[in-house]
Amino acid sequence: MGSLVIKNLNVSIENQQILTGVNLEIPQGEVHAIMGPNATGKSTLAYTLMGHPKYTITEGQILLDGKDIIGLSPEERSLAGIFLAFQYPVAIPGVTVANFLRTAMNAHRKAKNPEDKGIPILEFRKQLIEKMNLLEMDPAMAGRYLNDGFSGGEKKRVEILQMAMLEPRIAILDETDSGLDIDALRIVSEGINTLKNNNLGILVITHYQRMLNYLKPDMVHVMADGKILMSGGPDLALRLENEGYEWIKSSEIA
Ligand code: ADP
Ligand code: MG
Repeated sequence: MGSLVIKNLNVSIENQQILTGVNLEIPQGEVHAIMGPNATGKSTLAYTLMGHPKYTITEGQILLDGKDIIGLSPEERSLAGIFLAFQYPVAIPGVTVANFLRTAMNAHRKAKNPEDKGIPILEFRKQLIEKMNLLEMDPAMAGRYLNDGFSGGEKKRVEILQMAMLEPRIAILDETDSGLDIDALRIVSEGINTLKNNNLGILVITHYQRMLNYLKPDMVHVMADGKILMSGGPDLALRLENEGYEWIKSSEIA
């Protein structure tokens, strides 16, 4: 079974150090949650894992199945099976949701098999409808321009739809729950749960216990000041929701 292993990751943005030695291991088949105060580097970690050029790795390793992926472009990382659901998905006016997804799927197919002629349109439609039903999305959304004028909740659903179509090995969900009402949160969470299998490892970044009630993480990690301060079981998320983060910082000093 593969895994994503993060070793002593140090990351800076414009010469300002944000991550200061992050260690984390996400095996395929497990759900890991990261919680933590605002501006502690959670999104920085997500972007760095995906290879965003703005984030400079000054030290450390990111290993997928034991191989360092730091030299790979975001596209190459996607083809290797890493997926990031953005905290703030961007709009692409002029490109429909369906076209975007088909292009992404075809790139993945071609990377696996250079002879591939692309997914047949009927097969694509069948999969798309099936996955949109799963997420209780209006099929008409497939014909709209990507995220253009979408509500916060619609954008998050499209992110998960993309994940459902691409079937990654490691999915990073950056505050996918924020902006979702209670019903949408349940639908999206249940959608993610049906995608869970032994080949998918999930790293979910969240502020709230609620999504974790559905996703049932194997481990919860607390990030503060650019590093993981504490790791534990699902109970840790409950304690954080009740007591906040201060006790963790003081227990570190003690
Ligand atoms: P979190 O997701 O935990 O709220 P972020 O990773 O978004 O935190 O941000 C961590 C710190 O890095 C913050 O102080 C933020 O202002 C800074 N930061 C993040 N992205 C950028 C950027 N592109 N340019 C400059 N500073 C950034
Ligand atoms: Mg963030």
